[in-house]
Amino acid sequence: MRSLRHSVLTAYLTLAALSSAPAQAIPHPLLGLISHTEYTYGKHESPVIVFDIDDTLLDTRFRTVRIFNELASVPEFRLAYPEEARRLTTIWAPQVLYSTEGTLQRAGITNAAAIAAIVTYWRERFFSDFYSSEDIQLPDASRYVNQLYRSGAIIVYLTGRPRETMEIGTRNALSRWRFPSGPRTALLMKPDAKMDDLIFKRNALEEIALMGNVIGAFENEPANLNLLGARFPEAELFFLDTIHSPRPDLPTEKSVWINRY
Ligand SMILES: [Mg+2]
Repeated sequence: MRSLRHSVLTAYLTLAALSSAPAQAIPHPLLGLISHTEYTYGKHESPVIVFDIDDTLLDTRFRTVRIFNELASVPEFRLAYPEEARRLTTIWAPQVLYSTEGTLQRAGITNAAAIAAIVTYWRERFFSDFYSSEDIQLPDASRYVNQLYRSGAIIVYLTGRPRETMEIGTRNALSRWRFPSGPRTALLMKPDAKMDDLIFKRNALEEIALMGNVIGAFENEPANLNLLGARFPEAELFFLDTIHSPRPDLPTEKSVWINRY
């Protein structure tokens, strides 16, 4: 997937450095979106930019590491699976994959009963306010989103996080990392934890369309990004190459890749 024509960038960080580039330079796509926002806002249209949260704006891998470490210190688990408990403590953020089972196997944990116990423990905690306090922003994500916001953008956070168990934690994290909130922002969360993310996001498209002119979208899930691109063909699409589900979709050719983790 890394070989796609548009794949290139290193970080939101690059932005700040490029913002002082000479006027005749070809604008970086991330900078171009800022110009596009200013232009759209200047025409008295409402520029809307959609951001996924997990592994697009916030790094969720530390949440998983904390849950693993916690389980490794639970006496019953240590007694039943001493070697697996030890191995759990060796996993650090860069080793975390999208698939929890895959992460465990990579760490040498192969006992099926232990894996089942770990995955159950992880799943009961991962989608919660409490553990999401471990999330950190991707480098300079907040600075970039704020720059768009100050340029006149309406910022839509479109996340598969369930509202019931994660709204407080999500709002706290956005606030902690100083992402825009309040007027001209919207936080759209899944009303039912069991709902498929893609279906939830598809259902949200018309609500987003009513907010203004969607000119940009950021996602780490190719299928979600392509969904946004199909509904908003004028939007510039940015694919966060972090971790994503094993769904076979590839980001549409027109998307710009941002390499992160
Ligand atoms: Mg995501």
